[in-house]
Amino acid sequence: MATSFWKARDFLFCGVCGTLLDLDNIRYASCPLCGFKRMAKDIEDKETRYSITAEDMRRQLKTQPFVDVVVQKTVIDGTCPKCKHNKLEYDQRQLRSADEGATTFYECPKCNYRFNEN
Ligand SMILES: [Zn+2]
Ligand SMILES: [Zn+2]
Repeated sequence: MATSFWKARDFLFCGVCGTLLDLDNIRYASCPLCGFKRMAKDIEDKETRYSITAEDMRRQLKTQPFVDVVVQKTVIDGTCPKCKHNKLEYDQRQLRSADEGATTFYECPKCNYRFNEN
């Protein structure tokens, strides 16, 4: 694993409680537990060049729970791939810049199964 990743990774944990910061917002990472915020700019200013996207982070840290700050959820007709429930909730968020499109996350309200489509 690249050293730069682990350096950048240190900045992604809450300085107060050590929780993995939520990097969904491109401007800052915030702690889902205590609200601690770290500006993305601060991360860039550190010794490592911050070239890793939030998406890369999530892939690397997939053992961490998916932490959400959900802006809004919409209920749609759809079938849960897991339990076949006939309603799904979804929310859309920008993972990177506004130019690169959004990822839609679906969640089954019944079994809480989550998946996304690009
Ligand atoms: Zn915290
Ligand atoms: Zn389900």
